[in-house]
Amino acid sequence: MIFNTPNRTVSFGTLLTSGLVLAGWLGVVIQSQKLESSTVEIYQQAQLEVVRNAASAAQVYITQELEDRGIDAVDAIEQEVLEKFVQPIRVGSVGDAWIYAPDYVVYDASEDFPAEYVGKSMIEIFELQRARGARHYETMSAAVTSGTEGVGWYVWEPDKAAHAAPWWEVLTQDAGIEIAAWTPVKVFSGTDRERLWVIGMSAMLTEMMQENGAYGHIQGSLVTMSVATLFAIALLATLRRQEWALYQQDLQYRAIVEDQTEMINRFRPDGTLTFVNRAMAAAFGRPAADLIGTNVFDLIPATERPRVIDCLAQLSAENPTGTVEHLVFDAEGNQRWQQWTNRLILDSRQTVVGFQSTGRDITQQKAHATEIETLAFTDGLTGLANRRQLYQTGRELLAGWQPGDLPVALLYIDLNEFKIVNDTWGHDAGDALLIEVAQRLTACLRQPDLLARLGGDEFAVLLQPATPAVAQAIADRIVHALERPFHTGRQPIRLGGSVGIALTQTASPSFSQLLTQADIAMYQAKRSSATHVLFTPAMRSAVIARSELERQLHHAIDNQELRLHYQPIIDLTTDRPKGFEALVRWQHPQRGLLKPGEFLPVVAEMGLSHRLDRWVLQQACQQLRHWHVDSFSGHLPTISVNLSSAHLAQPDLANGDLTRYIEDLLASEPIDPRQLILEITEEVMIHQPEAVIEMLHRLRRLGLRISLDDFGTGYSSLNYLQQFPVDLLKIDRSFVTQLCAQEAARPSVNMTVIKTIITLAKDLGLDVVAEGIETADQLAQLQALGCQYGQGDFFSTPLNQAAADALLRQQGSVTQSA
Ligand code: C2E
Ligand code: CA
Ligand code: CA
Repeated sequence: MIFNTPNRTVSFGTLLTSGLVLAGWLGVVIQSQKLESSTVEIYQQAQLEVVRNAASAAQVYITQELEDRGIDAVDAIEQEVLEKFVQPIRVGSVGDAWIYAPDYVVYDASEDFPAEYVGKSMIEIFELQRARGARHYETMSAAVTSGTEGVGWYVWEPDKAAHAAPWWEVLTQDAGIEIAAWTPVKVFSGTDRERLWVIGMSAMLTEMMQENGAYGHIQGSLVTMSVATLFAIALLATLRRQEWALYQQDLQYRAIVEDQTEMINRFRPDGTLTFVNRAMAAAFGRPAADLIGTNVFDLIPATERPRVIDCLAQLSAENPTGTVEHLVFDAEGNQRWQQWTNRLILDSRQTVVGFQSTGRDITQQKAHATEIETLAFTDGLTGLANRRQLYQTGRELLAGWQPGDLPVALLYIDLNEFKIVNDTWGHDAGDALLIEVAQRLTACLRQPDLLARLGGDEFAVLLQPATPAVAQAIADRIVHALERPFHTGRQPIRLGGSVGIALTQTASPSFSQLLTQADIAMYQAKRSSATHVLFTPAMRSAVIARSELERQLHHAIDNQELRLHYQPIIDLTTDRPKGFEALVRWQHPQRGLLKPGEFLPVVAEMGLSHRLDRWVLQQACQQLRHWHVDSFSGHLPTISVNLSSAHLAQPDLANGDLTRYIEDLLASEPIDPRQLILEITEEVMIHQPEAVIEMLHRLRRLGLRISLDDFGTGYSSLNYLQQFPVDLLKIDRSFVTQLCAQEAARPSVNMTVIKTIITLAKDLGLDVVAEGIETADQLAQLQALGCQYGQGDFFSTPLNQAAADALLRQQGSVTQSA
C-alpha cells in the first residue's frame, strides 16, 4: 500500500490525540479522590473518553481490515472489534459496554440482557424493558437513535437495584441508577453494511459506593477501566506499527510522486479521484484537494470517454497496464491532448480497487503529427489529396464494399498537351496551369468525391458509390472543363484531357487493381482519341502485350535488333534510282520483322524517338560511305532519313543536340552532305515553328536537304510553305492511290491537288516526289503532270541492304568501296 488516503492519516492522528487526552485524564482521576461531589461527573467524562477511544480504534481497525480482507470478512471483523475494543472496557470497569445501532443491537454484554432480546431492534427492546420498570432512559435512547454523543443516567433494572441496595431503593426509588456515556461512530463506510454505531458504557451507581455511601470503589474502577483502554490502544498501536512505518515510507514516495513532472493520479473503479499530484493539479489549473473526490471522467469530453473506458476495461492481473491518448478539458475549458498509462490496482483477493495513472501532455506532439500527416497526405502544389491519401481512402472504401452495393468508381485523368506546355513555357507556367486544372476539376465533383493529384499531369477522382451513368456524366463534365482554353500563361492554351473509368464489379478488386484498370482505360481513351472510356477486361490483355513490347523495345537498339530497309526513289525521266528512303524495321526475336507502324508509336510514347533517329542517321551515313562513289558518272545516290515528329517537337533536343549530332556524323564519315535528305512532316511546325525553322536553316547550311513528307495531308501547308526552308515535297500516298482507282471518290480532285502541288513546287524551285506508286497508270498520270520523282511498290518495295547493293551494282551507278 503506497498511498494512504488523507482520511486514514487523520484517524491515526485522532488516535494519538486520544491517547494524550487519556493521559491528561488520568491526572484528573488522581485529583478526583478529594472531590467527591463532582465524582459522578468526572466518572462520566472518563467514560466518555473511554468510549471515544474505543470508537476511533474500532473505526481505524474496521477500515483497515475491510480494505485488506474485503467485504466478505465483515462479520468476522465486527466480532474482532467487540473482542479487541469493546469487551476490554467492560472487563476493566464496574459496569457494562454496549453497541447499539438503531435497527439492531450489535452488542450488549449486560449479564441481565435477556435472551429473547437478541435480534430485536433497539426501540423494541426499550419498550419491553420499560414494561419491566425501566425509567429515565429516554435521553439515552434518543441519543442512540440520532447518533449524538453524550452522558446521562437511567434506571434499567429496577429489581436488581432493589436487591443490591434495598435501603437505598426504599429511600430514593433510584437505587438502580446507571451512569453512562456514549459516542457515535460510522463503520463499514462505503459498503452495504455502513452503519452508525453508538458505543456506550454504563455502571450502576450503587455498585461504586462503599457501604458508608462514599464512592469508594470508583477510583479502582477508574484505574482498571483506563488500563483496559490503554491496553486496547496498545494493541491497536501494535497492529498499526507496521502501517506507521509504511506511512513514513509513504511520505517519501509521496514526495517523489509529488515532484514528478508527469501527472499522476489514482482513482476508484467508479472514477472518483483519490490522489492527484502537483503536476496534474497544475495541468488542470485546480488544487489537488479540489480534484480529489471529483470524477476523473468529468475531465474528459464525452466523445473521448468510451476510448478511455475501453482501455481500462482491458486491464487484467496478467496485463495490468495500458496506454490511451485522449482529449481533456484544461482549466480554461480548452481541449488538450494527453497520453495516460493506466495501471490496475488489485487487492489481495484480486478484486479491482482502483487505477493509478501516469500522464503527459501531448498536445504539441499531436499538432506536429497532424501537420506532418497533412503534408504527407497533400499534394504540395495544388493542395489536393496526393497518391497516398487516395490509396488510403480508396482502400477504406473498398474494404466495406460488397458485390451488390453501388459500385465505387475511379476516374483516371491525364492532360493531353501538358508536357508540351511545360517544355515550351517553363515549369512556372506549368505549375500555374496545374493549379487552374485542379480548381476546374474540383468544380466538377460532388461533395464526398475525392480528387487527388497522382503526380505530373495525372489526376484521379474517387467517386463515392456511383452508377456507371453517374461516373460517365462526371467524366463528361471533366472533359468539357478541360477543353475550355486556359488563360494562365501569356497566351490562351488548349489542353483537353483523357479520362479512364473503372468500377468495382462482381469480384472485389484491390484498390491498386482498380487504379490500374482506370489507368488502362485512360490510356485507351488517349489512343482512340475518345474523351473518356470505361474499363473492360479485354483492355487488359492489350495493355499487357504493350507493356511487354515496351520492355523489349528498351533493349532493341542496344541489342542491334533494328534494321534499315531502303526503298528506291526513281527519277521518272530516266527510270533510274536517284536514291533511297531509309525505312526502319525491327527484327523481333520472336515476332519476326516488324514494320514501323507496329512499334514507332510506342517508341514515341516512351520518349525514345531521339535515340532511334540517331541510330537511323548513323546507319544511313555508314551506308552512304559503303556506297562511296568511285567511278560514278553523273550523280550521287541519296538517302532520305525520316525524323520523328516527337523528337523535333522537343526544340531543345532538336535544335541543339540533333544538329550537333549530325555535324559530328558528317565530320566522321567522308560523305557529301548533299547525299543526306531529312524527311520531316508539317506536324513539327505546330509548336514553336520559329525554333524548327531556325534548326532547318542550320541543317541546310551544312549542305543537307530537307524534304516535306506526306505533303497535302497536314495543316495549313500552303501558307507555311514559303517560310519553310525545304528542298523537296513528297506528295502523300493517299493522293496517288486515288489517282486512277476505279472506285476513287473524286479522281479529278486528286488530280487537281497533285497538279497544284507540282506547279507550286516548280514556282518555289522545289523538287517533287510522288509516294506510293503502285501501278503503271498512276505512273503515267504523274509523268503526264510533270512529276519528276516517284517512289512505290511499282518500282520496288523497301529492300534490305544486300538487295539495295545489288540494285545499285546492276544500275552500274556505283562501285563498292572496301
Ligand atoms: P513514310 O515516311 O510515308 O514512308 C513510306 C511508307 O509507305 C513506308 O512504310 C513504305 O513501305 C510505304 N510504301 C512505299 N511505297 C508504297 C506503295 O506503293 N504502296 C503502299 N501501300 N505502301 C508503300 P513503312 O516502311 O511501313 O513506314 C511507315 C512510316 O513509318 C513512314 O511513313 C514513316 O513515317 C515511319 N518511318 C519509317 N521508317 C522510319 C525511320 O527510320 N525513322 C522514323 N522516324 N520514321 C520512320
Ligand atoms: Ca518518309
Ligand atoms: Ca510519306
